[in-house]
Amino acid sequence: MSDQRETQDSLLNSTILMVDDEFTTIEVLKTFLEDAGYNNFLSTTESVEAYDIIISRKPDIVLLDLVMPEVNGFEILQRIRSDHKLCYTPVIVLTSSTDSDTKLKALELGANDFLAKPVDPSELALRLKNTLSAKAYQDRLTYFDALTGLPNRVTYIDTLCSVQEASVQTNNRFSVLRLNLDRFKQINETLGPSAGDELLRAIASRLEKCIHTSPGIIKLGFNDFRPEIYRIGGDEFSILLPYIEAGEDAVNVARQILDSMHEAFCQDENDLFVTPSIGISIYPEDGREVDTLIKNAEVAMSYAKRQGGNNYYFYSSGINVRSAERLRLANELRKAVENNELELFYQPKVNVKTERIAGVEALLRWQHPEFGMVSPGKFIPIAEETGLIIPVSDWVINEACRQAMQWQQEGFGVVPVAVNVASQHFRQKKLLKTVAQALQDSRLDPACLELELTEGVMLENAEDNIATMNRLKQLGVKLALDDFGTGYSSLSYLTRFPIDTLKIDQSFIRDIHVNAANAAIVTAIVVMAHSLGMEVVVEGVETEGQSVMLSGKNCDIYQGYYFYRPMPVQELNQVLTMDRQSSFNLKTAVEP
Ligand code: C2E
Ligand code: MG
Ligand code: MG
Repeated sequence: MSDQRETQDSLLNSTILMVDDEFTTIEVLKTFLEDAGYNNFLSTTESVEAYDIIISRKPDIVLLDLVMPEVNGFEILQRIRSDHKLCYTPVIVLTSSTDSDTKLKALELGANDFLAKPVDPSELALRLKNTLSAKAYQDRLTYFDALTGLPNRVTYIDTLCSVQEASVQTNNRFSVLRLNLDRFKQINETLGPSAGDELLRAIASRLEKCIHTSPGIIKLGFNDFRPEIYRIGGDEFSILLPYIEAGEDAVNVARQILDSMHEAFCQDENDLFVTPSIGISIYPEDGREVDTLIKNAEVAMSYAKRQGGNNYYFYSSGINVRSAERLRLANELRKAVENNELELFYQPKVNVKTERIAGVEALLRWQHPEFGMVSPGKFIPIAEETGLIIPVSDWVINEACRQAMQWQQEGFGVVPVAVNVASQHFRQKKLLKTVAQALQDSRLDPACLELELTEGVMLENAEDNIATMNRLKQLGVKLALDDFGTGYSSLSYLTRFPIDTLKIDQSFIRDIHVNAANAAIVTAIVVMAHSLGMEVVVEGVETEGQSVMLSGKNCDIYQGYYFYRPMPVQELNQVLTMDRQSSFNLKTAVEP
Protein backbone atom coordinates (compact mmCIF):
# COMPACT_ATOMS: atom_id res chain seq x y z
CA MET A 1 0.00 0.00 0.00
CA SER A 2 1.36 3.43 -0.86
CA ASP A 3 2.22 5.78 2.02
CA GLN A 4 -0.37 8.28 0.86
CA ARG A 5 -3.09 5.67 0.76
CA GLU A 6 -2.10 4.42 4.17
CA THR A 7 -2.24 7.92 5.63
CA GLN A 8 -5.63 8.49 4.01
CA ASP A 9 -6.97 5.25 5.50
CA SER A 10 -5.65 6.06 8.93
CA LEU A 11 -7.28 9.52 8.76
CA LEU A 12 -10.62 7.90 7.88
CA ASN A 13 -10.27 5.65 10.93
CA SER A 14 -10.05 8.66 13.25
CA THR A 15 -12.49 8.75 16.11
CA ILE A 16 -14.74 11.80 15.78
CA LEU A 17 -16.71 13.12 18.73
CA MET A 18 -19.74 15.28 17.93
CA VAL A 19 -21.17 17.42 20.71
CA ASP A 20 -24.41 19.22 19.90
CA ASP A 21 -27.63 19.66 21.86
CA GLU A 22 -29.66 19.11 18.70
CA PHE A 23 -29.94 15.49 17.78
CA THR A 24 -30.73 16.27 14.14
CA THR A 25 -27.47 18.24 13.70
CA ILE A 26 -25.54 15.20 14.90
CA GLU A 27 -27.44 12.93 12.52
CA VAL A 28 -26.77 15.28 9.59
CA LEU A 29 -23.07 15.58 10.43
CA LYS A 30 -22.77 11.83 10.74
CA THR A 31 -24.39 11.22 7.35
CA PHE A 32 -22.06 13.71 5.66
CA LEU A 33 -19.04 12.18 7.34
CA GLU A 34 -20.04 8.64 6.42
CA ASP A 35 -20.37 9.78 2.83
CA ALA A 36 -16.83 11.15 3.07
CA GLY A 37 -15.62 7.71 4.25
CA TYR A 38 -15.34 8.16 8.05
CA ASN A 39 -16.64 5.39 10.24
CA ASN A 40 -15.70 5.94 13.87
CA PHE A 41 -18.17 8.14 15.70
CA LEU A 42 -18.97 9.17 19.23
CA SER A 43 -21.69 11.66 19.99
CA THR A 44 -23.63 13.30 22.77
CA THR A 45 -26.44 15.79 23.02
CA GLU A 46 -25.72 16.26 26.73
CA SER A 47 -23.01 18.88 27.00
CA VAL A 48 -22.36 17.97 30.67
CA GLU A 49 -21.16 14.55 29.52
CA ALA A 50 -18.82 15.82 26.83
CA TYR A 51 -15.73 16.30 28.95
CA ASP A 52 -15.94 12.84 30.54
CA ILE A 53 -16.29 11.23 27.10
CA ILE A 54 -13.19 13.07 25.92
CA ILE A 55 -11.23 11.86 28.92
CA SER A 56 -12.31 8.24 28.69
CA ARG A 57 -12.42 7.79 24.91
CA LYS A 58 -9.69 10.18 23.74
CA PRO A 59 -11.23 11.06 20.35
CA ASP A 60 -8.94 12.23 17.56
CA ILE A 61 -11.06 15.29 16.94
CA VAL A 62 -14.07 17.07 18.47
CA LEU A 63 -16.83 18.82 16.53
CA LEU A 64 -18.21 21.16 19.15
CA ASP A 65 -21.35 23.24 19.16
CA LEU A 66 -20.88 26.54 20.97
CA VAL A 67 -24.38 27.37 22.06
CA MET A 68 -25.72 24.70 24.37
CA PRO A 69 -27.69 24.74 27.63
CA GLU A 70 -25.99 23.91 30.98
CA VAL A 71 -22.37 23.77 29.81
CA ASN A 72 -21.62 25.74 26.66
CA GLY A 73 -18.95 25.01 24.05
CA PHE A 74 -16.59 27.73 25.32
CA GLU A 75 -16.41 26.10 28.75
CA ILE A 76 -15.75 22.68 27.27
CA LEU A 77 -13.04 24.10 25.02
CA GLN A 78 -11.44 25.84 27.96
CA ARG A 79 -11.35 22.63 30.01
CA ILE A 80 -9.84 20.67 27.14
CA ARG A 81 -7.08 23.23 26.63
CA SER A 82 -6.17 23.41 30.30
CA ASP A 83 -5.82 19.63 30.69
CA HIS A 84 -2.20 18.69 29.91
CA LYS A 85 -3.21 15.27 28.58
CA LEU A 86 -5.99 16.52 26.32
CA CYS A 87 -4.76 19.95 25.35
CA TYR A 88 -3.60 18.90 21.89
CA THR A 89 -6.97 17.39 20.87
CA PRO A 90 -8.14 19.30 17.76
CA VAL A 91 -11.49 21.03 18.11
CA ILE A 92 -13.60 22.42 15.28
CA VAL A 93 -16.37 24.67 16.57
CA LEU A 94 -19.77 24.71 14.93
CA THR A 95 -21.49 28.03 15.06
CA SER A 96 -24.56 29.52 13.52
CA SER A 97 -23.34 32.89 14.59
CA THR A 98 -21.58 35.01 12.01
CA ASP A 99 -20.66 37.32 14.81
CA SER A 100 -16.90 37.84 14.73
CA ASP A 101 -16.64 38.33 18.53
CA THR A 102 -17.82 34.77 19.06
CA LYS A 103 -15.32 33.48 16.54
CA LEU A 104 -12.52 35.50 18.09
CA LYS A 105 -13.32 34.20 21.54
CA ALA A 106 -13.32 30.59 20.28
CA LEU A 107 -10.01 31.22 18.58
CA GLU A 108 -8.54 32.68 21.76
CA LEU A 109 -9.67 29.64 23.68
CA GLY A 110 -7.84 27.41 21.21
CA ALA A 111 -10.33 26.27 18.56
CA ASN A 112 -8.54 24.88 15.52
CA ASP A 113 -11.19 25.83 12.97
CA PHE A 114 -14.80 27.01 12.46
CA LEU A 115 -17.72 25.60 10.59
CA ALA A 116 -20.80 27.63 9.92
CA LYS A 117 -24.20 26.06 10.48
CA PRO A 118 -25.98 24.82 8.47
CA VAL A 119 -22.99 22.72 7.58
CA ASP A 120 -21.95 22.31 3.97
CA PRO A 121 -20.80 18.68 3.36
CA SER A 122 -17.77 19.45 1.21
CA GLU A 123 -16.62 22.19 3.57
CA LEU A 124 -16.98 19.79 6.51
CA ALA A 125 -14.95 17.09 4.73
CA LEU A 126 -12.21 19.54 3.78
CA ARG A 127 -11.85 21.13 7.23
CA LEU A 128 -11.85 17.76 8.92
CA LYS A 129 -9.24 16.38 6.57
CA ASN A 130 -6.96 19.39 7.00
CA THR A 131 -7.22 19.41 10.76
CA LEU A 132 -6.72 15.66 11.05
CA SER A 133 -3.72 15.73 8.68
CA ALA A 134 -2.10 18.46 10.74
CA LYS A 135 -2.75 16.41 13.85
CA ALA A 136 -1.35 13.26 12.26
CA TYR A 137 1.85 15.11 11.35
CA GLN A 138 2.11 16.58 14.83
CA ASP A 139 1.47 13.14 16.36
CA ARG A 140 4.19 11.62 14.22
CA LEU A 141 6.69 14.12 15.61
CA THR A 142 5.48 13.81 19.18
CA TYR A 143 4.84 10.12 19.50
CA PHE A 144 7.26 8.40 17.13
CA ASP A 145 10.99 8.01 16.93
CA ALA A 146 12.36 9.70 13.84
CA LEU A 147 15.17 7.19 13.24
CA THR A 148 13.35 3.87 13.50
CA GLY A 149 9.72 4.93 13.08
CA LEU A 150 8.86 3.03 16.25
CA PRO A 151 6.61 4.66 18.84
CA ASN A 152 8.77 6.59 21.28
CA ARG A 153 9.08 7.01 25.02
CA VAL A 154 6.14 9.44 25.25
CA THR A 155 3.83 6.92 23.62
CA TYR A 156 5.28 4.16 25.76
CA ILE A 157 4.52 5.93 29.04
CA ASP A 158 1.07 7.00 27.81
CA THR A 159 0.14 3.50 26.71
CA LEU A 160 1.62 1.89 29.78
CA CYS A 161 -0.45 4.20 32.00
CA SER A 162 -3.61 3.34 30.06
CA VAL A 163 -2.89 -0.39 30.24
CA GLN A 164 -2.17 -0.14 33.95
CA GLU A 165 -5.39 1.81 34.62
CA ALA A 166 -7.42 -0.70 32.63
CA SER A 167 -5.73 -3.68 34.30
CA VAL A 168 -6.54 -2.35 37.77
CA GLN A 169 -10.22 -2.56 36.75
CA THR A 170 -10.06 -5.89 34.96
CA ASN A 171 -7.48 -7.62 37.18
CA ASN A 172 -5.45 -8.63 34.14
CA ARG A 173 -1.74 -9.25 34.14
CA PHE A 174 0.56 -7.50 31.75
CA SER A 175 4.30 -7.40 31.25
CA VAL A 176 7.01 -4.87 30.59
CA LEU A 177 10.23 -5.95 28.88
CA ARG A 178 13.26 -3.73 28.80
CA LEU A 179 15.79 -4.45 26.10
CA ASN A 180 19.30 -3.10 25.73
CA LEU A 181 21.77 -4.11 23.05
CA ASP A 182 25.01 -5.63 24.32
CA ARG A 183 28.17 -3.67 23.48
CA PHE A 184 26.26 -1.49 21.07
CA LYS A 185 28.31 1.53 22.05
CA GLN A 186 31.48 -0.17 20.83
CA ILE A 187 29.82 -1.37 17.63
CA ASN A 188 28.55 2.14 17.02
CA GLU A 189 31.96 3.67 17.65
CA THR A 190 33.58 1.21 15.28
CA LEU A 191 31.02 1.67 12.51
CA GLY A 192 30.62 5.42 12.79
CA PRO A 193 27.32 7.22 13.40
CA SER A 194 25.56 6.80 10.06
CA ALA A 195 26.26 3.07 9.70
CA GLY A 196 25.32 2.76 13.39
CA ASP A 197 21.98 4.42 12.61
CA GLU A 198 21.40 2.07 9.72
CA LEU A 199 22.10 -0.90 11.95
CA LEU A 200 19.69 0.43 14.59
CA ARG A 201 16.98 0.73 11.94
CA ALA A 202 17.58 -2.86 10.83
CA ILE A 203 17.48 -4.07 14.44
CA ALA A 204 14.27 -2.11 15.12
CA SER A 205 12.56 -3.60 12.14
CA ARG A 206 13.58 -7.12 13.09
CA LEU A 207 12.37 -6.59 16.66
CA GLU A 208 9.10 -5.17 15.38
CA LYS A 209 8.47 -8.26 13.27
CA CYS A 210 9.03 -10.46 16.32
CA ILE A 211 6.58 -8.54 18.46
CA HIS A 212 3.87 -8.36 15.87
CA THR A 213 3.81 -12.11 15.38
CA SER A 214 2.79 -12.60 19.01
CA PRO A 215 -0.92 -12.68 20.01
CA GLY A 216 -2.74 -9.68 18.63
CA ILE A 217 -5.13 -7.00 19.70
CA ILE A 218 -6.78 -6.98 23.09
CA LYS A 219 -9.59 -4.74 24.26
CA LEU A 220 -9.06 -3.25 27.70
CA GLY A 221 -11.77 -0.84 28.79
CA PHE A 222 -12.69 1.23 25.76
CA ASN A 223 -9.34 0.95 24.06
CA ASP A 224 -7.60 -1.61 21.89
CA PHE A 225 -4.02 -2.50 22.70
CA ARG A 226 -1.57 -4.79 21.08
CA PRO A 227 1.94 -5.95 21.93
CA GLU A 228 4.22 -3.15 20.86
CA ILE A 229 7.88 -2.23 20.86
CA TYR A 230 9.02 1.28 21.67
CA ARG A 231 12.36 2.97 21.20
CA ILE A 232 13.22 4.64 24.47
CA GLY A 233 16.47 6.16 23.26
CA GLY A 234 19.91 5.11 22.01
CA ASP A 235 20.02 1.34 22.04
CA GLU A 236 17.22 1.02 24.60
CA PHE A 237 13.89 -0.49 23.68
CA SER A 238 10.82 -1.41 25.69
CA ILE A 239 8.16 -3.92 24.89
CA LEU A 240 4.71 -3.77 26.37
CA LEU A 241 2.62 -6.93 26.41
CA PRO A 242 -0.76 -5.48 27.41
CA TYR A 243 -2.17 -8.84 28.43
CA ILE A 244 -0.48 -12.04 29.55
CA GLU A 245 -1.81 -15.21 31.11
CA ALA A 246 1.45 -16.10 32.78
CA GLY A 247 5.13 -15.19 32.89
CA GLU A 248 5.67 -17.85 30.24
CA ASP A 249 4.05 -15.54 27.67
CA ALA A 250 6.71 -12.91 28.30
CA VAL A 251 9.40 -15.59 28.11
CA ASN A 252 8.13 -16.64 24.69
CA VAL A 253 8.50 -13.12 23.39
CA ALA A 254 11.96 -12.74 24.94
CA ARG A 255 13.05 -16.05 23.41
CA GLN A 256 11.70 -15.10 20.02
CA ILE A 257 13.73 -11.90 20.18
CA LEU A 258 16.91 -13.71 21.21
CA ASP A 259 16.40 -16.24 18.41
CA SER A 260 15.77 -13.54 15.85
CA MET A 261 19.17 -12.05 16.64
CA HIS A 262 21.05 -15.24 15.78
CA GLU A 263 21.09 -14.16 12.18
CA ALA A 264 23.77 -11.63 11.32
CA PHE A 265 23.01 -8.10 10.20
CA CYS A 266 24.76 -7.58 6.92
CA GLN A 267 26.30 -4.17 6.44
CA ASP A 268 28.79 -3.14 3.81
CA GLU A 269 29.54 -6.80 3.26
CA ASN A 270 30.31 -7.25 6.95
CA ASP A 271 28.36 -9.66 9.07
CA LEU A 272 27.51 -8.05 12.37
CA PHE A 273 26.12 -9.96 15.30
CA VAL A 274 24.15 -8.09 17.90
CA THR A 275 22.80 -9.58 21.11
CA PRO A 276 20.33 -8.09 23.56
CA SER A 277 19.92 -8.18 27.33
CA ILE A 278 16.29 -8.31 28.37
CA GLY A 279 14.70 -7.63 31.76
CA ILE A 280 11.09 -8.61 32.47
CA SER A 281 8.68 -7.27 35.07
CA ILE A 282 5.08 -8.35 35.50
CA TYR A 283 2.02 -6.56 36.82
CA PRO A 284 1.01 -6.89 39.61
CA GLU A 285 3.69 -9.20 41.08
CA ASP A 286 6.64 -6.94 40.36
CA GLY A 287 4.85 -3.67 41.01
CA ARG A 288 1.44 -2.09 40.81
CA GLU A 289 2.66 1.32 39.69
CA VAL A 290 4.01 2.15 36.27
CA ASP A 291 7.25 3.62 37.67
CA THR A 292 7.98 0.53 39.73
CA LEU A 293 7.39 -1.79 36.79
CA ILE A 294 9.69 0.24 34.58
CA LYS A 295 12.39 0.41 37.21
CA ASN A 296 12.22 -3.30 37.99
CA ALA A 297 12.42 -4.31 34.34
CA GLU A 298 15.54 -2.12 34.15
CA VAL A 299 17.05 -3.78 37.21
CA ALA A 300 16.44 -7.20 35.65
CA MET A 301 17.93 -6.00 32.36
CA SER A 302 21.09 -4.76 34.09
CA TYR A 303 21.31 -8.09 35.84
CA ALA A 304 21.04 -9.91 32.50
CA LYS A 305 23.81 -7.69 31.21
CA ARG A 306 26.06 -8.43 34.16
CA GLN A 307 25.57 -12.15 33.59
CA GLY A 308 27.14 -11.68 30.17
CA GLY A 309 24.19 -10.49 28.09
CA ASN A 310 22.36 -12.30 25.29
CA ASN A 311 19.77 -13.44 27.79
CA TYR A 312 16.61 -12.50 29.64
CA TYR A 313 15.94 -12.29 33.35
CA PHE A 314 12.82 -11.81 35.40
CA TYR A 315 12.82 -9.19 38.06
CA SER A 316 13.00 -10.73 41.50
CA SER A 317 13.55 -9.11 44.82
CA GLY A 318 16.81 -11.10 45.03
CA ILE A 319 18.20 -9.16 42.10
CA ASN A 320 16.95 -6.02 43.74
CA VAL A 321 18.80 -6.70 46.97
CA ARG A 322 22.01 -7.43 45.11
CA SER A 323 21.67 -4.31 43.07
CA ALA A 324 20.96 -2.22 46.18
CA GLU A 325 24.18 -3.57 47.67
CA ARG A 326 26.04 -2.70 44.51
CA LEU A 327 24.51 0.72 44.48
CA ARG A 328 25.68 1.29 48.02
CA LEU A 329 29.20 0.12 47.21
CA ALA A 330 29.23 2.37 44.13
CA ASN A 331 28.28 5.39 46.23
CA GLU A 332 30.88 4.59 48.81
CA LEU A 333 33.55 3.92 46.23
CA ARG A 334 32.97 7.44 44.98
CA LYS A 335 34.03 8.72 48.39
CA ALA A 336 36.78 6.16 48.87
CA VAL A 337 39.16 7.99 46.56
CA GLU A 338 38.73 11.26 48.46
CA ASN A 339 38.86 9.57 51.87
CA ASN A 340 42.14 7.79 51.10
CA GLU A 341 40.56 4.41 51.62
CA LEU A 342 42.29 2.98 48.56
CA GLU A 343 45.67 1.39 48.94
CA LEU A 344 48.06 -0.42 46.68
CA PHE A 345 49.42 -3.78 47.68
CA TYR A 346 52.38 -5.12 45.75
CA GLN A 347 53.07 -8.69 44.78
CA PRO A 348 56.70 -9.46 43.96
CA LYS A 349 57.46 -11.38 40.77
CA VAL A 350 60.43 -13.71 40.81
CA ASN A 351 63.02 -14.21 38.10
CA VAL A 352 63.05 -17.96 37.46
CA LYS A 353 66.82 -18.15 36.87
CA THR A 354 68.14 -15.84 39.59
CA GLU A 355 65.22 -16.46 41.99
CA ARG A 356 65.34 -12.77 42.83
CA ILE A 357 62.62 -10.16 42.69
CA ALA A 358 62.25 -8.97 39.12
CA GLY A 359 59.51 -6.47 39.79
CA VAL A 360 56.14 -6.08 41.46
CA GLU A 361 52.50 -5.96 40.40
CA ALA A 362 50.41 -3.23 41.99
CA LEU A 363 47.09 -4.64 43.19
CA LEU A 364 44.37 -2.37 44.42
CA ARG A 365 42.81 -2.75 47.86
CA TRP A 366 39.90 -0.92 49.39
CA GLN A 367 39.98 -0.55 53.14
CA HIS A 368 36.26 -0.04 53.75
CA PRO A 369 35.50 1.57 57.15
CA GLU A 370 32.74 -0.95 57.82
CA PHE A 371 33.29 -4.05 55.66
CA GLY A 372 37.07 -4.13 56.08
CA MET A 373 39.13 -5.15 53.07
CA VAL A 374 37.02 -5.32 49.91
CA SER A 375 38.65 -7.36 47.16
CA PRO A 376 39.15 -5.87 43.71
CA GLY A 377 37.11 -8.74 42.25
CA LYS A 378 34.13 -7.21 44.02
CA PHE A 379 34.59 -3.52 43.44
CA ILE A 380 36.44 -3.25 40.11
CA PRO A 381 33.38 -4.46 38.15
CA ILE A 382 31.27 -1.84 39.97
CA ALA A 383 33.88 0.79 39.25
CA GLU A 384 33.75 -0.19 35.58
CA GLU A 385 29.97 -0.07 35.43
CA THR A 386 29.76 3.32 37.07
CA GLY A 387 32.67 4.90 35.23
CA LEU A 388 34.49 5.35 38.55
CA ILE A 389 37.23 3.15 37.13
CA ILE A 390 38.69 6.20 35.43
CA PRO A 391 39.49 8.30 38.53
CA VAL A 392 40.42 5.15 40.44
CA SER A 393 42.82 4.00 37.70
CA ASP A 394 44.32 7.47 37.43
CA TRP A 395 45.07 7.33 41.10
CA VAL A 396 46.60 3.82 40.79
CA ILE A 397 48.93 4.85 37.98
CA ASN A 398 50.14 7.94 39.82
CA GLU A 399 50.58 6.16 43.11
CA ALA A 400 52.45 3.22 41.55
CA CYS A 401 54.88 5.54 39.73
CA ARG A 402 55.43 7.60 42.84
CA GLN A 403 56.12 4.48 44.93
CA ALA A 404 58.49 2.97 42.33
CA MET A 405 60.49 6.20 42.38
CA GLN A 406 60.50 6.24 46.17
CA TRP A 407 62.03 2.74 46.25
CA GLN A 408 64.83 4.00 44.08
CA GLN A 409 65.33 7.01 46.33
CA GLU A 410 65.36 4.77 49.39
CA GLY A 411 68.14 2.70 47.89
CA PHE A 412 66.23 -0.40 46.79
CA GLY A 413 67.39 0.14 43.22
CA VAL A 414 65.15 -0.33 40.26
CA VAL A 415 61.84 -2.01 41.13
CA PRO A 416 59.78 -2.27 37.94
CA VAL A 417 56.09 -1.92 38.71
CA ALA A 418 53.18 -3.36 36.75
CA VAL A 419 49.76 -1.72 36.83
CA ASN A 420 46.46 -3.23 35.68
CA VAL A 421 44.57 -1.20 33.13
CA ALA A 422 40.83 -1.84 32.75
CA SER A 423 39.71 -1.98 29.13
CA GLN A 424 37.35 0.91 29.73
CA HIS A 425 40.29 3.00 30.88
CA PHE A 426 42.38 1.84 27.96
CA ARG A 427 39.77 3.08 25.51
CA GLN A 428 39.94 6.59 26.96
CA LYS A 429 42.14 8.99 25.05
CA LYS A 430 43.09 10.46 28.41
CA LEU A 431 45.03 7.34 29.44
CA LEU A 432 48.03 8.38 27.39
CA LYS A 433 48.10 11.77 29.05
CA THR A 434 47.65 10.30 32.52
CA VAL A 435 50.57 7.92 32.01
CA ALA A 436 52.82 10.63 30.56
CA GLN A 437 51.94 13.01 33.38
CA ALA A 438 52.48 10.38 36.09
CA LEU A 439 55.92 9.57 34.63
CA GLN A 440 56.80 13.21 34.47
CA ASP A 441 55.59 13.99 38.01
CA SER A 442 57.39 11.02 39.53
CA ARG A 443 60.46 11.30 37.25
CA LEU A 444 60.28 7.51 36.94
CA ASP A 445 62.10 5.91 34.04
CA PRO A 446 59.26 4.82 31.70
CA ALA A 447 60.91 1.43 31.23
CA CYS A 448 60.13 0.74 34.92
CA LEU A 449 56.40 0.96 34.29
CA GLU A 450 54.48 -1.91 32.75
CA LEU A 451 50.79 -1.72 31.86
CA GLU A 452 48.84 -4.95 32.09
CA LEU A 453 46.10 -5.11 29.50
CA THR A 454 43.38 -7.71 29.18
CA GLU A 455 42.43 -9.75 26.15
CA GLY A 456 39.25 -7.72 25.68
CA VAL A 457 41.45 -4.88 24.52
CA MET A 458 42.88 -7.11 21.80
CA LEU A 459 39.52 -8.12 20.45
CA GLU A 460 37.46 -4.98 20.13
CA ASN A 461 38.50 -2.24 17.83
CA ALA A 462 41.85 -3.82 17.06
CA GLU A 463 43.20 -1.09 14.77
CA ASP A 464 42.51 1.78 17.17
CA ASN A 465 43.87 -0.21 20.06
CA ILE A 466 47.07 -1.10 18.27
CA ALA A 467 47.55 2.62 17.61
CA THR A 468 47.04 3.41 21.31
CA MET A 469 49.48 0.66 22.27
CA ASN A 470 52.08 2.04 19.90
CA ARG A 471 51.72 5.49 21.38
CA LEU A 472 52.17 4.07 24.86
CA LYS A 473 55.25 2.22 23.65
CA GLN A 474 56.61 5.49 22.29
CA LEU A 475 56.42 6.86 25.82
CA GLY A 476 58.79 4.04 26.73
CA VAL A 477 56.49 1.98 28.95
CA LYS A 478 56.15 -1.78 28.63
CA LEU A 479 52.95 -3.61 27.79
CA ALA A 480 51.84 -6.94 29.19
CA LEU A 481 48.89 -9.11 28.26
CA ASP A 482 47.26 -10.28 31.48
CA ASP A 483 45.35 -13.50 32.15
CA PHE A 484 46.36 -14.90 28.79
CA GLY A 485 44.31 -17.90 27.72
CA THR A 486 41.03 -16.93 29.38
CA GLY A 487 39.72 -14.87 26.47
CA TYR A 488 39.51 -15.65 22.82
CA SER A 489 42.75 -14.32 21.45
CA SER A 490 44.87 -16.89 19.72
CA LEU A 491 48.63 -16.99 19.73
CA SER A 492 48.79 -16.02 16.07
CA TYR A 493 46.62 -13.02 16.84
CA LEU A 494 49.30 -11.81 19.22
CA THR A 495 51.75 -11.08 16.43
CA ARG A 496 49.72 -8.00 15.59
CA PHE A 497 50.20 -6.36 18.99
CA PRO A 498 53.28 -4.65 20.40
CA ILE A 499 53.27 -6.73 23.59
CA ASP A 500 56.43 -7.22 25.71
CA THR A 501 55.13 -9.66 28.26
CA LEU A 502 52.63 -12.49 28.28
CA LYS A 503 51.10 -13.45 31.61
CA ILE A 504 49.74 -17.00 31.49
CA ASP A 505 46.52 -17.20 33.47
CA GLN A 506 46.45 -19.01 36.79
CA SER A 507 43.79 -21.45 35.57
CA PHE A 508 46.43 -23.27 33.50
CA ILE A 509 48.71 -23.61 36.50
CA ARG A 510 46.21 -24.72 39.13
CA ASP A 511 46.21 -28.39 38.13
CA ILE A 512 49.31 -28.46 35.96
CA HIS A 513 50.82 -31.37 37.88
CA VAL A 514 47.84 -33.60 37.02
CA ASN A 515 46.52 -32.08 33.82
CA ALA A 516 48.78 -33.03 30.93
CA ALA A 517 46.81 -30.89 28.47
CA ASN A 518 47.42 -27.73 30.48
CA ALA A 519 51.08 -28.61 30.84
CA ALA A 520 51.32 -28.96 27.06
CA ILE A 521 49.51 -25.67 26.52
CA VAL A 522 51.91 -23.85 28.81
CA THR A 523 54.86 -25.33 26.91
CA ALA A 524 53.39 -24.21 23.60
CA ILE A 525 52.63 -20.70 24.86
CA VAL A 526 56.17 -20.27 26.16
CA VAL A 527 57.77 -21.40 22.89
CA MET A 528 55.52 -19.20 20.81
CA ALA A 529 55.87 -16.15 23.07
CA HIS A 530 59.65 -16.46 23.06
CA SER A 531 59.69 -16.72 19.28
CA LEU A 532 57.76 -13.43 19.22
CA GLY A 533 60.32 -11.90 21.58
CA MET A 534 57.97 -11.77 24.56
CA GLU A 535 58.79 -12.49 28.14
CA VAL A 536 56.58 -15.06 29.88
CA VAL A 537 55.17 -14.59 33.38
CA VAL A 538 53.38 -17.50 35.00
CA GLU A 539 50.66 -16.42 37.39
CA GLY A 540 49.26 -18.31 40.37
CA VAL A 541 52.16 -20.55 41.34
CA GLU A 542 50.96 -21.77 44.73
CA THR A 543 52.88 -24.94 45.49
CA GLU A 544 56.26 -26.47 45.21
CA GLY A 545 54.73 -29.17 43.00
CA GLN A 546 53.62 -26.61 40.48
CA SER A 547 56.96 -24.89 40.54
CA VAL A 548 58.73 -28.20 39.91
CA MET A 549 56.35 -29.00 37.09
CA LEU A 550 57.10 -25.63 35.52
CA SER A 551 60.83 -25.84 35.92
CA GLY A 552 61.57 -27.46 32.59
CA LYS A 553 59.34 -25.12 30.65
CA ASN A 554 61.67 -22.21 30.25
CA CYS A 555 59.33 -19.56 31.75
CA ASP A 556 60.97 -16.27 32.66
CA ILE A 557 59.09 -15.09 35.71
CA TYR A 558 56.93 -16.60 38.43
CA GLN A 559 54.23 -14.83 40.34
CA GLY A 560 52.29 -16.61 43.03
CA TYR A 561 51.62 -17.28 46.68
CA TYR A 562 54.35 -19.93 46.74
CA PHE A 563 56.86 -17.11 46.47
CA TYR A 564 55.09 -14.00 47.74
CA ARG A 565 51.56 -12.84 48.41
CA PRO A 566 50.44 -9.30 47.61
CA MET A 567 51.55 -7.13 50.56
CA PRO A 568 51.47 -3.54 51.81
CA VAL A 569 54.48 -1.28 51.21
CA GLN A 570 56.05 -1.60 54.66
CA GLU A 571 56.13 -5.37 54.39
CA LEU A 572 57.45 -5.21 50.87
CA ASN A 573 60.24 -2.93 52.03
CA GLN A 574 61.48 -5.68 54.36
CA VAL A 575 61.19 -8.27 51.59
CA LEU A 576 63.09 -6.00 49.22
CA THR A 577 65.76 -5.39 51.80
CA MET A 578 66.33 -9.11 52.13
CA ASP A 579 66.21 -9.63 48.40
CA ARG A 580 68.73 -6.85 47.78
CA GLN A 581 70.96 -8.20 50.52
CA SER A 582 70.96 -11.63 48.93
CA SER A 583 71.96 -9.92 45.73
CA PHE A 584 74.74 -8.13 47.60
CA ASN A 585 75.91 -11.42 49.11
CA LEU A 586 75.72 -13.11 45.76
CA LYS A 587 77.81 -10.40 44.25
CA THR A 588 80.43 -10.37 47.04
CA ALA A 589 80.57 -14.15 46.92
CA VAL A 590 81.66 -14.20 43.30
CA GLU A 591 83.97 -11.25 43.62
CA PRO A 592 87.47 -11.99 44.83
P1 C2E B 1 45.34 -9.98 38.03
O1 C2E B 1 45.85 -8.75 37.39
O2 C2E B 1 45.42 -11.22 37.23
O3 C2E B 1 46.12 -10.12 39.40
C1 C2E B 1 46.51 -11.32 39.94
C2 C2E B 1 45.52 -11.78 40.95
O4 C2E B 1 45.86 -13.08 41.34
C3 C2E B 1 45.57 -10.95 42.23
O5 C2E B 1 44.28 -10.96 42.81
C4 C2E B 1 46.54 -11.76 43.09
O6 C2E B 1 46.38 -11.52 44.46
C5 C2E B 1 46.12 -13.16 42.72
N1 C2E B 1 47.19 -14.12 42.93
C6 C2E B 1 48.51 -13.93 42.85
N2 C2E B 1 49.17 -15.09 43.09
C7 C2E B 1 48.23 -16.02 43.29
C8 C2E B 1 48.28 -17.43 43.59
O7 C2E B 1 49.32 -18.04 43.72
N3 C2E B 1 47.08 -18.07 43.72
C9 C2E B 1 45.90 -17.41 43.61
N4 C2E B 1 44.80 -18.12 43.75
N5 C2E B 1 45.82 -16.10 43.34
C10 C2E B 1 46.99 -15.42 43.18
P2 C2E B 1 43.60 -9.67 43.33
O8 C2E B 1 44.59 -8.77 43.97
O9 C2E B 1 42.40 -10.07 44.09
O10 C2E B 1 43.17 -8.96 41.99
C11 C2E B 1 42.21 -9.54 41.17
C12 C2E B 1 42.11 -8.82 39.87
O11 C2E B 1 41.60 -7.51 40.05
C13 C2E B 1 43.44 -8.63 39.16
O12 C2E B 1 43.79 -9.79 38.46
C14 C2E B 1 43.14 -7.49 38.26
O13 C2E B 1 42.50 -7.95 37.09
C15 C2E B 1 42.14 -6.69 39.06
N6 C2E B 1 42.85 -5.56 39.66
C16 C2E B 1 43.59 -5.49 40.76
N7 C2E B 1 44.07 -4.25 40.95
C17 C2E B 1 43.65 -3.51 39.90
C18 C2E B 1 43.82 -2.14 39.51
O14 C2E B 1 44.52 -1.34 40.13
N8 C2E B 1 43.20 -1.74 38.36
C19 C2E B 1 42.46 -2.60 37.62
N9 C2E B 1 41.87 -2.13 36.52
N10 C2E B 1 42.28 -3.88 37.96
C20 C2E B 1 42.87 -4.34 39.09
MG1 MG C 1 47.37 -8.20 36.51
MG1 MG D 1 46.35 -11.95 35.89
